[in-house]
Amino acid sequence: MIRERVIVWFRQDLRLHDNEALFEAIRQSKEVIPVFVLDERQIFGKTSFEFPKIGKFRMKFLLESIEDLRSNLKKLGSDLIVRVGHTENILINIANQTKATAVYCNRERTEEEVKVQDNLEKLLWQEGKELLYFRGKMLYYTADLPFPVTHTPDIFSQFRKEVERIIPVRDPFPTPTKQFQPISVPLNSGEIPTMEKLGFIDVNNIDKSGFEGGETAALKRLHDYLWVSEGILNYKETRNGMLGRNFSSRFSAWLALGCLSPKMIYQEIRRFEKERMANESTYWLIFELLWRDFFRLMGKKYKSKIFQIGGTRDLENHYFKTNFEIFQKWADGNTGVPFIDANMKELNSTGFMSNRGRQVVASFLAKDLKINWLLGAEYFESVLIDYDVCSNYGNWNYVAGVGSDPREDRSFNIQTQSSKYDHNGQFVKHWLPELKQIPADKLIAFNSLSANELSSYGVNLGKNYPFSIISFPKYSKRF
Ligand SMILES: Cc1cc2nc3c(=O)[nH]c(=O)nc-3n(C[C@H](O)[C@H](O)[C@H](O)COP(=O)(O)OP(=O)(O)OC[C@H]3O[C@@H](n4cnc5c(N)ncnc54)[C@H](O)[C@@H]3O)c2cc1C
Repeated sequence: MIRERVIVWFRQDLRLHDNEALFEAIRQSKEVIPVFVLDERQIFGKTSFEFPKIGKFRMKFLLESIEDLRSNLKKLGSDLIVRVGHTENILINIANQTKATAVYCNRERTEEEVKVQDNLEKLLWQEGKELLYFRGKMLYYTADLPFPVTHTPDIFSQFRKEVERIIPVRDPFPTPTKQFQPISVPLNSGEIPTMEKLGFIDVNNIDKSGFEGGETAALKRLHDYLWVSEGILNYKETRNGMLGRNFSSRFSAWLALGCLSPKMIYQEIRRFEKERMANESTYWLIFELLWRDFFRLMGKKYKSKIFQIGGTRDLENHYFKTNFEIFQKWADGNTGVPFIDANMKELNSTGFMSNRGRQVVASFLAKDLKINWLLGAEYFESVLIDYDVCSNYGNWNYVAGVGSDPREDRSFNIQTQSSKYDHNGQFVKHWLPELKQIPADKLIAFNSLSANELSSYGVNLGKNYPFSIISFPKYSKRF
């Protein structure tokens, strides 16, 4: 059946390539109306600990991504209708006004997104219209997995072994190239709001660490990282780096908003392997994408448990305290532990932190400071440019010891981590210039230096750098 007119509801799939909902809408209808709604509950909402749900880095990235999507749709003779408000009310109004018979969207699986989906489905149904769901988030299709979602192995390596050799990754859906039928009903395309209009101040100095929102920039980064710099060939060795832009792929922010599809990355890596070279590093990037799928499946399997303090393991006897004073020092990068503070300063200044950094600061908050890890997870939700609900909460569950880490009571030794991953102290000195006179070997042992020694390097505790908030406890399984 070919429909007269349908709506494509863009969500976290802000792209034309490999977009199943868009592809099917074009195939199954004469006229497609692309819509994006900035949902007030998201853009002005607060997390349960009252952090803004979307901080300035992600908001700017999101607005750029919407702009880019509109511009790419315009090149095909279409447009992107943009609105601010309650998604389900706006979509039902547009559907009624334009007499569209269905809304096509890529399905979301997490709590808040599902609520909106369900509300919309009801409203549409009352008007005799349909909400049609498609897929597009993961590398694998859940339908192809050798187990139902509820039986997804809780241990990553087991999950990986069960899927990667048996299940093929499907090809991406092709990018539409034919001109769209122009939108034939009178519909204001809607202004994309500015950061100032959304209440953000001081917007000129937002340094997004090189991330530019949108599918165009995403595809360029994919091309550059593989074909131009060939950074992918050393990915396995460099991925734990901390300073610079090329030590890892930096695909995360585009993946999170769906400007880039994981299947597209996979296809390009396989092509690169055939045409240039395959090595452990080219495989390792695919391996990391499997972590992303794994946490998404954990989110589907355990639903709201990923947001609860006892995590997916439903642990009751946890020791976490909700102490805002200590938490704030961690969040501001004022703990007096240089490796932690440098990472938090990077996050607060750019919205990005390396994977190594994220693991160490999360472990420090949950395991050393014994602070309620949900505070940290919500803070990340607010500030990260690449926030992805399942990757964020899944990783926090894992590091806090309430998720899928098979090793009991694991935590990081901050000194070992900084000597291994920042042995020359460049990362710490970049973000904490007040420590730049300290020689690298001393910087690693910063917390055991005497006040006199520190002052000989221009550091006066309590004046230009804080006293440490912790005297390091000994853990049995630290590395
Ligand atoms: C506490 C904590 C919170 C995190 N929160 C997020 C988040 O909100 N959003 C997010 O995208 N990632 C999150 N991560 C995972 C990881 O840190 C980032 O994906 C990665 O640092 C992004 O940089 P990259 O794109 O250069 O990664 P690369 O190393 O180049 O990896 C390629 C891609 O693989 C995926 N990936 C890699 N590692 C992981 C992982 N551990 N879990 C899930 N996916 C992974 C990402 O999509 C990434 O873009 C978190 C990790 C921790 C420890």
